[in-house]
Amino acid sequence: MKIFCIGRNYGLHAKELGNAIPENPVVFSKPDTALLKNGEPFYLPDFSNDVHHEVELVIKISKVGKNIQEQFARNYFNEIGLGVDFTARDLQTQLKEKGLPWELAKAFDNSAPLGDFISVADRKDLNNIAFGLQKNGTWVQQGNAADMIFSFEKIIAFVSTYFTLKVGDLIYTGTPAGVGPVKIGDVLEGFLEGKSALKFEVK
Ligand code: ZN
Repeated sequence: MKIFCIGRNYGLHAKELGNAIPENPVVFSKPDTALLKNGEPFYLPDFSNDVHHEVELVIKISKVGKNIQEQFARNYFNEIGLGVDFTARDLQTQLKEKGLPWELAKAFDNSAPLGDFISVADRKDLNNIAFGLQKNGTWVQQGNAADMIFSFEKIIAFVSTYFTLKVGDLIYTGTPAGVGPVKIGDVLEGFLEGKSALKFEVK
């Protein structure tokens, strides 16, 4: 399976990192070794002193497709979940300055914690999915699908122009404002439509 991620998909987050609003989705990928499931702890990597949490809605692809048109994209997923796109921000800044790819800062082992999914098969309107992240019991990020620059359907259409999507592939759809560093001992808990959907400790 493949994991894609969308960068700069919320205006306020693009702004907090000093980035312009993109014309097309910013796409990068993580290998399957990035997945961290079942509430297992996240071990801070040695190569960064500034690992940031980015809580994100995650699309789970349910049907194989290539060159999917936006108006049919809804047929390619039935579930939306919650995940974190961990980012070694110090390393990412260095790579960006040199014009190098982001993989080392974004795609490292366990950089993609994944929590619970909700079924959206029977829902027509996906423009109101609230989610957020608490760090040690305090809200640090709160977002809503309504604020995405590129909708789920637009993302699927764009990504499938370049990559065949297969059943089980995941797309992390970008983070709202409020990203910040994690340290050993922090407990992160993600919420999807008001329910706890992801919880783990930083070690
Ligand atoms: Zn992200």
